[in-house]
Amino acid sequence: MNQTIQLDNYLNADLHCHSLYSDGVCTPSELAKRAKDNGVQLWALTDHDEIAGVDEARVAAQALGLPFLSGVEITVTYAVQEIHIVALGIDVKHEHLRLGLEQIRKIRYDRARLMAGAFDKLGIKGTWEGALEFASNPQLISRTHFARFLVESGICKDNAQAFKKYLGDGKPCYVRSNWISLKECLHWIREANGIAVIAHPGRYKRLSKNQHRQLFTEFCTLGGQGVEVVTGSHSPDDFIKYTELARELGLWASRGSDYHSAQESRIDLGRLPLLPASLDPIWKYLEKRILY
Ligand code: AMP
Ligand code: MN
Ligand code: MN
Ligand code: MN
Repeated sequence: MNQTIQLDNYLNADLHCHSLYSDGVCTPSELAKRAKDNGVQLWALTDHDEIAGVDEARVAAQALGLPFLSGVEITVTYAVQEIHIVALGIDVKHEHLRLGLEQIRKIRYDRARLMAGAFDKLGIKGTWEGALEFASNPQLISRTHFARFLVESGICKDNAQAFKKYLGDGKPCYVRSNWISLKECLHWIREANGIAVIAHPGRYKRLSKNQHRQLFTEFCTLGGQGVEVVTGSHSPDDFIKYTELARELGLWASRGSDYHSAQESRIDLGRLPLLPASLDPIWKYLEKRILY
């Protein structure tokens, strides 16, 4: 089909969300329908370190006439910080990328075992089985699955409290892992013909101002091209800050809700503010990779 959408700043693009193949609660098909119902005009599924849901998402989106991009959100260690890189328009069949993601899921598995051990030591039993119950995809265990178990068993009132008390960086059951490097991550994305985007940079509070700056300059040097400016994790002040930074560094701007579930997410699919008019929207450069 020919292009039916204007790839400008007014496009209701939502290029970041999660299905039950990672730590969301909806199937890719349910997400496609929700996106369509909410007026999304260009959609990408970006599960953490997992592309198993992309085929279903693509088929569902195409059946709904919803333009679609493949995606994944990759976990990386940069300096002292876990950061996330969203890859858009990737060839999900690319072997090197697939093997890389498999390697990260193994790190996740080992981390989850250690986290469960930390809970045991605190006298909170059954978190391994509990988290697994919530992980529809046993290949992908996230802190969110632990949080859901803690809420279900009445130990925490909500996910936010579970992160604040136990799971957040520096809290008793947080386990620091060596994820992959930014360099490796960007290498895989480039090989798979994707475009790399720094996800929700406003969240990287462990980085000093200098490190934060360095993250951006290294990202550019390594061939990274995009940054999430409008995301569910950013405040209005962050929108301004990252608009300025994107302009200064010539980065293309992305927009995504980071939707996980109706109960847990602040912002629904497609319900974000539009991209500021002064930015260069990343979808302009993804034109050839969009599936209609
Ligand atoms: P993981 O990828 O296993 O390290 O888990 C990170 C995920 O946990 C994020 O993608 C969010 O979905 C969720 N998360 C992180 N911080 C919080 C928080 N403070 N409250 C609720 N969920 C959070
Ligand atoms: Mn998540
Ligand atoms: Mn993220
Ligand atoms: Mn995310």
